[in-house]
Amino acid sequence: MSEMDAPSEFELPVHGAAIAGAPEGIGQSFDEPPEPELIETPGVGADPLLEFRRTLGMFATGVTVITVVADEQVHGMTANAFMSVSLAPPLVLVSIDRKARMNAMLREGVRFGVSVLEAGQRELSDRFAGRPRPDTPEPRFELVHATPLVEGALAHLVGRVVRSYWGGDHSLFLGRVEYVYYGEGTPLLFHGGRYERVIRDPQVFSALPAELLQPLLAAGVETTFADGEALMRRGERGDALYLVLEGAVTVARPGRMFSLGAGAVVGEIEVLDPGAGRIADVIADGDVRALRVTRDELRAALGTQPRAALALIEILASRFRELA
Ligand code: FAD
Repeated sequence: MSEMDAPSEFELPVHGAAIAGAPEGIGQSFDEPPEPELIETPGVGADPLLEFRRTLGMFATGVTVITVVADEQVHGMTANAFMSVSLAPPLVLVSIDRKARMNAMLREGVRFGVSVLEAGQRELSDRFAGRPRPDTPEPRFELVHATPLVEGALAHLVGRVVRSYWGGDHSLFLGRVEYVYYGEGTPLLFHGGRYERVIRDPQVFSALPAELLQPLLAAGVETTFADGEALMRRGERGDALYLVLEGAVTVARPGRMFSLGAGAVVGEIEVLDPGAGRIADVIADGDVRALRVTRDELRAALGTQPRAALALIEILASRFRELA
């Protein structure tokens, strides 16, 4: 018998029932409201349940839409309580509120889709969470294994429910994965009860128009790097940025590597936020000619270029907006 042939149990709670053999205090009565005093919190006078929610909110997640076909209709629901479980066999888990309509649609053998939303799909997340905005476009679905998946999502999975478990006021559905796909893009994130997004290429000076950037870099000193030489190393402190004049550099950050050529500015984040350390390794790919501009030189140039200073503040403000 394979692992997945193992007997399955669908352990949705019976109202007020106790789990045979469960330890004292666990599963004694599924529907009793939680006892707040059981959660300890150092905050004086704080509501422990609120503290519990807020504490859980510190765990940043992506956002998915779970989809099923029920009564020949597509039903979708936003869920961030999604996790990978096992590679062999391929298993994932979703946690669904017992009051959600989705909860009644999922059961052993039912196929469901998981669409991992892209950063630009927060309206869809709101829509499938039952709070549509007036301008939300109609969601479009594609079908794989007769299972709907949200079009334009960053990743798709199709799974079949093989087990389900009691999870307090939620049910946990374990799905065996039958189909996976991922594309290029940035995921939508959820953290602290709000949407956030990853900024993959945090450019500030590089986003300045050329006529404002050039006077700032005029005091720079030309420097050359041989093939394989590091312009900077991740974590090290540095007080200069570099404008690549000729050649190409490879930028390597955890999980991401890309190449930049002439005209690119590197090292700008450490110049603006000194002391935190470089955020990437930047290595010369062939011979490289670059202009080295120190923080002090930039500071002096910004003093004489108020338009450039204002433009930098605008760029930083737009970064805040992206994060809001
Ligand atoms: P409904 O509330 O009836 O439907 C959900 C919404 O989707 C409705 O607005 C409906 O019109 C729309 N919709 C459904 N199908 C379609 C379709 N085919 N075309 C167009 N619109 C459609 N709850 C959990 O249980 N687990 C979680 O992990 C979870 N994570 C969440 C994460 C985030 C970021 C958010 C915002 C909410 C989360 N929720 C979660 C809450 C959950 O999304 C809502 O409670 C949701 O409304 C429950 O859906 P439902 O199945 O009861 O269906």
